[in-house]
Amino acid sequence: MNIGGNPQEFRQRSPRVLLIDDSELMHRLLRSRLQLEQVEIHCVSDGEAGLELALKLQPDVILLDIDLQGIDGFEVLQRLKEDARTRDIAVIFISASTEMMDRVRCLDLGAIDFVAKPFEMAELKARVRSAIRVQQLLRMLAQRAQLDGLTALWNRAFFDQRLQCEVTAARRHGTPLSLILCDIDHFKSVNDRYGHPFGDEVLAFFATVISSRRSTDVSCRYGGEEFAIILPETAARDAIAVADQMRRGFEEHRWRRYPDLVLTASFGVADLTMIAEDGTAGDLLARADLALYGAKRGGRNRVSTEGMPLAA
Ligand code: GH3
Ligand code: MG
Ligand code: MG
Repeated sequence: MNIGGNPQEFRQRSPRVLLIDDSELMHRLLRSRLQLEQVEIHCVSDGEAGLELALKLQPDVILLDIDLQGIDGFEVLQRLKEDARTRDIAVIFISASTEMMDRVRCLDLGAIDFVAKPFEMAELKARVRSAIRVQQLLRMLAQRAQLDGLTALWNRAFFDQRLQCEVTAARRHGTPLSLILCDIDHFKSVNDRYGHPFGDEVLAFFATVISSRRSTDVSCRYGGEEFAIILPETAARDAIAVADQMRRGFEEHRWRRYPDLVLTASFGVADLTMIAEDGTAGDLLARADLALYGAKRGGRNRVSTEGMPLAA
């Protein structure tokens, strides 16, 4: 499933339906009848155009005619299923065929439903609504699987995938990209002294401190009390300022139950200019990790771009 952005800002767009059918009458009919359903409807007349638009549009549902000029509906479905980018789109076949084996073949190829022509518009609309509901549920489940349960930030699996995408995109467009890694200081003793539930509360609060930033920034729980923020189109100089604001925001927080308690965190910052021109996401991560280590070695509660001197 294609999902992205910050989880707190995950917005539901209006559902998209793509009709691939060579009958202009069907296009007009569907446009007029689905108009009030608050769905976005797009129509094309042949399979190749349908495949192209499916890729670009990422519709929730495709209504696919079997009998098309050029490549037929079966082949369109096969190609949709072969491509990871279109595999999850729900396909409903519409066909004048009364052959039972055609229906079986459609469903076996991965279509989720089959509507025979001529059909009642009320039935088609109900089937489209049902397919959209299933798609939205699947998207929500896919998103949940990539969220951290305690902090509601993206988890490590999402982070790894996203960092790779952002490095590739930044290289292609020649734009800056920074990564902040941060780790709560002496967190083990917070757990030991105040108990694990309070430790969890601290983690949840830290998550709010590092996520109330630009919506293009991607905040993740890297693991335990370590967090990562990907900052597209941001050079290290600006990322350092962002990290320092986060550092102060956390340090200055007063804990309701323990008013005298001051907690701090350390931050390591790296950007693409600090690694080799063909450096990978892993190299950027290693560089930020080294910087975080430098911040810890330097006395904690600070932002660093430098690792530990090799000869130290
Ligand atoms: P440093 O300043 O060097 O980072 O020291 P530290 O004590 O923060 O680091 P250390 O890695 O020794 O300890 C991390 C602690 O974080 C140990 C682990 O029990 C705790 N921890 C990891 N995940 C969770 C969690 O989900 N909830 C709570 N309460 N504690 C967690
Ligand atoms: Mg720590
Ligand atoms: Mg740690």
